[in-house]
Amino acid sequence: MSYVGPEFDPSPSEGAGRPGGAGRRRRGPVVALGALAAAALLGWLAYEAVGSPGGPGGPDGAGGGPGPGGTAATSGKPPSGSSPASPASPSFPGDDAKQPGGAAGPLRGKVVVIDPGHNPGNVRHTAEIDRQVDIGTGHKECDTTGTATNAGYAEARFTLDVAHRLRALLEQRGVTVKLTHDGDSPAWGPCVDERARIGNAAHADAALSLHADGAAAGDRGFHVILPAAVREGAADTRPIAAASHDLGVRLAGAFLRATGEPPADYVGGGTGLVTRKDLGGLNLSTVPKVFIECGNMRNSTDAARLTSADWRQQAAQGMSEGIVSFLSGS
Ligand code: ZN
Repeated sequence: MSYVGPEFDPSPSEGAGRPGGAGRRRRGPVVALGALAAAALLGWLAYEAVGSPGGPGGPDGAGGGPGPGGTAATSGKPPSGSSPASPASPSFPGDDAKQPGGAAGPLRGKVVVIDPGHNPGNVRHTAEIDRQVDIGTGHKECDTTGTATNAGYAEARFTLDVAHRLRALLEQRGVTVKLTHDGDSPAWGPCVDERARIGNAAHADAALSLHADGAAAGDRGFHVILPAAVREGAADTRPIAAASHDLGVRLAGAFLRATGEPPADYVGGGTGLVTRKDLGGLNLSTVPKVFIECGNMRNSTDAARLTSADWRQQAAQGMSEGIVSFLSGS
C-alpha cells in the first residue's frame, strides 16, 4: 500500500519526476521480433513510447486501509513454466539476464538486499510501528500494516512470497541475497529507516523494496519508485540517484516483459516510473535502491494476478532479470 500513512504520505509534488530521466533507454524499438512473445513485445513498445518518467504524478492519497492480516496461503514453491521465451538480442536493458550461460561468474560476490514491504506481524504491533522515525525530509511512522485484496490477501504476505521467489532466482545466478526481514523474524517491522540501514550495512550493489498498492478500485498497473536526488537532514540520495534510476528502468522493463502487467494508469504518466522524496526507505539509502508496486490489490484484475502463484513467479523472474541486468552493467 502505499499511499496511506507513514511510508507513503500523499506527495503529489513528487510525481513530477526528473526531467530527462529517460535518457538511458537505448534503441528501444530495435528488438528481436522473433525472440519475444507478441504480448510482451507490444507491452515493451508501449512502454518505450510513453516518454520520460514521472508524469503528472499520482493521487498518492488513494490507499486502502490496513489489511486484515491475510489468510490466503502462499505455497512458497515457485511453479515452473513461467519463464519468458528465448533470449533476445541485447537491444534493451535486461536482455543479458536471459542469455544462456548466465552471468554467475561475474555476479558472484554481488550483494542484493530484498526488502519485503511491511510485515505480517505489524497488525499485532501497532504501537511499535506507529512511532515516528526520521527520514531526512521529515518524520514518519516506523512502518505500516500494508494493504490487502478485497478477499483478504495481505500485501505483507505477497511481498514475503515474492521475496522468497526472487531470492531463489538471484542465488541461482550466484548473487548473495539478504532480506530485511523474513516473516516472524523480527516479529514486526523493521522500521523504514532500519530497512534502509540494512542495505547500507550490507554494502548492497542493489536494493529492492517490494510492495503492492492500495489505490482506487478502478486503477491498475505497476510502477517503480525512484529516489529523488535530495540532500536534507540525514538524507543524501545524490550519490545513488543516477544508479537507482538505471536500476529502476531495467527493473520496470524486465517486469513488464515477464508479467505483461501494464504500467500504472493512475500515476507516473503511463511510464511505470515515479520519483519521490518522501520515502524513508529510499531517502536513507546509500546504495542503489528502488521500490516496486507490483499492482493494485484493490483492482480486481490486478488482484487476480497478485494472488496467483504462477504470476508471482513471473514477477520474481522479471525482477531477477532486471536486477541481473543492472548488476551486469550491460
Ligand atoms: Zn506497501
